[in-house]
Amino acid sequence: MQYSNKKSNFIDSLCFLVRNELRCDVMCHHTKSFKRVLSICYYHYPSKHPGTEALTFSLWLTNLGSEMAKSPEEEHPVKTFGWAATDPSGHLSPFTFSRRVTGEEDVRFKVLYCGICHSDLHSIKNEWGSSNYPMVPGHEIVGEVTEVGSKVEKVKVGDKVGVGCMVGACHSCDSCANDLENYCPKLILTYNGIYYDGTITYGGYSDSMVANERYVVRIPDGMPLDSAAPLLCAGITVYSPLKYFGLGEPGKHIGIVGLGGLGHVAVKFAKALGSKVTVISTSPNKKAEALEHLGADSFLVSRDQDELQVIVCTYSYFY
Ligand SMILES: [Zn+2]
Ligand SMILES: [Zn+2]
Repeated sequence: MQYSNKKSNFIDSLCFLVRNELRCDVMCHHTKSFKRVLSICYYHYPSKHPGTEALTFSLWLTNLGSEMAKSPEEEHPVKTFGWAATDPSGHLSPFTFSRRVTGEEDVRFKVLYCGICHSDLHSIKNEWGSSNYPMVPGHEIVGEVTEVGSKVEKVKVGDKVGVGCMVGACHSCDSCANDLENYCPKLILTYNGIYYDGTITYGGYSDSMVANERYVVRIPDGMPLDSAAPLLCAGITVYSPLKYFGLGEPGKHIGIVGLGGLGHVAVKFAKALGSKVTVISTSPNKKAEALEHLGADSFLVSRDQDELQVIVCTYSYFY
């Protein structure tokens, strides 16, 4: 066990880390296990502990013994294959890890498609400074159910399902009580998160997935699964405010700024909900796609200030 051999250095490093409020990845230059434990510690231990004593911290650390004893391949019974980033280089490589057995509220499914969100690219390269490696990205995951727990009611074996950006939350705060788990301070992300049992969460760039049914959505029969996948992040990101703020209605005129991964889905939702849609882009070459392919009503080049000035007061909302 790597931890035993390095315990002294390890605790010294962690105490140093806490005293100086350094990020764990600055300190991660030993073994994979060491890096993994540091990541877990950093997540669980508050970043500011003035006067933290080494003894207190080492006792706390001792409780993580079971975590440190196991590799990602061993910590759960179900072998899983995926593609992981192991450093910020941007490259993914084959990665064998493990997932938990199907709990009574869990849905297990074979992953058939997984969207590539730009957040995945940011995370792979640690561009937000919060990445822990090895990391299996992917939070636009769809597949076919292979097993359900005894208390699962939403889906059955054979159903097509999806999992988006989150797989857990506290279920006791005001946000959770109002079906707004995405605002829960203890939200658990689909990957690069820490699950209830203390293990790292791994995403959909893998051959199978297991999640609590609360975070699983059923994909309607007949819906193409490759098209369904991006709805689980890009789609909900734009659909939610359209509905929440009542933007998608006949008679409303929506300006959608940017025709990228989210923007093009926003155009399709807004049109489907009956709104008039104008796409605003810096790229004149997006015009044909906006009008002819996606069905927008008009197109503006945002660099043309005169054009924008004339039309800006006619919008219900900018998006
Ligand atoms: Zn995303
Ligand atoms: Zn909560």
